[in-house]
Amino acid sequence: MTPLAEELAGEVLERFLRYVRIDTQSAHGAAESPSTAKQLDLARVLRDELEEIGLDDVRLDECGYVYGSLAGVESAPAIGLIAHVDTSPDVTGTGVDPQVHEAYGGGRIELPAEPSVVLDPDELPLLAKKVGHDIVTADGTTLLGADDKAGVAEIMTAVAYLKRSADRSHAPIRVCFTVDEEVAGGAEHLDLERFGARYAYTLDGSELGEIEAETFNAARVAVSIRGRSTHPGTAKGQLVNAIKLAADLVAALPRDSLSPETTEEREGFVHPTRISGGAEQASVELIVRDHDAAKLEEHLDLIRRLADELRTSEPRAAIDVSEEEQYRNMGEVIERHPEVIEAAEEALRRIGVEPVHTIIRGGTDGARLSQRGLPTPNLFTGGSEYHSRREWASVQDMAAAAAMLVELAGVWGERST
Ligand SMILES: [Zn+2]
Repeated sequence: MTPLAEELAGEVLERFLRYVRIDTQSAHGAAESPSTAKQLDLARVLRDELEEIGLDDVRLDECGYVYGSLAGVESAPAIGLIAHVDTSPDVTGTGVDPQVHEAYGGGRIELPAEPSVVLDPDELPLLAKKVGHDIVTADGTTLLGADDKAGVAEIMTAVAYLKRSADRSHAPIRVCFTVDEEVAGGAEHLDLERFGARYAYTLDGSELGEIEAETFNAARVAVSIRGRSTHPGTAKGQLVNAIKLAADLVAALPRDSLSPETTEEREGFVHPTRISGGAEQASVELIVRDHDAAKLEEHLDLIRRLADELRTSEPRAAIDVSEEEQYRNMGEVIERHPEVIEAAEEALRRIGVEPVHTIIRGGTDGARLSQRGLPTPNLFTGGSEYHSRREWASVQDMAAAAAMLVELAGVWGERST
């Protein structure tokens, strides 16, 4: 650890342990923002703490977003730091009881309230690398919430440090804590104009040194099939069964390739997520993903072609394909602003960490924000095994992330707009 990370470790841990105890689970399908009122419990705490630290323009808006700003070198671009307060709907976040396993010895970690939940370094190669670190876990009955309270604690620690270190020159900083990242609504209501950042970073990654500048291009497709229903006793030559046509469509989808279960890295997929309906009307919902926009279009073409084949095989059925874009690969935008990645690399070097460039295979706030005009890559937080009861975080890596943010603010302070 660098002296700066060492200095920040106590505060980042104290904040982290406090934030994870607050239940902020989000929910799918809510019409309102935030999707659950309990996310506001943490949002209010963060608003009050930003005010105590002495940031300007601190506010908690009607959608649940917390904003604050810290003045810096006036000629430098304003830099946004973003993390989300909510935790995944997949695993309960009620009654999180964080456990600090000091100076991890490299063996299996059994969680006290549920001994069947074990962190085994043989299964968790990242954990195996953290011998000597202080490891934080939940007690085995809940997730931990390092995703993304590690990011929240790191940003809070960094801005508090910058505020009290008058001798450190840095760029103007804009902080935003978002809600509902886990249910895909995260960046939707972020008020970019009032936020006023030129570039931003989400603190929502995992392994030490990670910079993520790419994710999928993503679309959702619904194929709706209208058959013809009659009494089955007198159906000969009349009935057109939508269920069987839907099954034909699913059976025609590739399996050995183009599926989440058979792809990795930069390979895209066409993934049926839901089939519903009856003999008269049925629908198949799919998600389509690819890092390459042209390939995404090819995958969409495949679905259109299969729908055409279905029409040819059963002209009496009405088949309708509707497509909707979900998010785009932020790599397209970030590519045009290489300085965003260079600054993060420089900040990592200043804390003695080698940058690791990885790609995301999923939605992230940065994708929507980049698309909306704010180039936003994702940085590491030191947490791992997200959305599970085996979630853990390294105190040393969280401290390194906070130190990286302090250095990042400094790097941007040396650049002019
Ligand atoms: Zn997250």
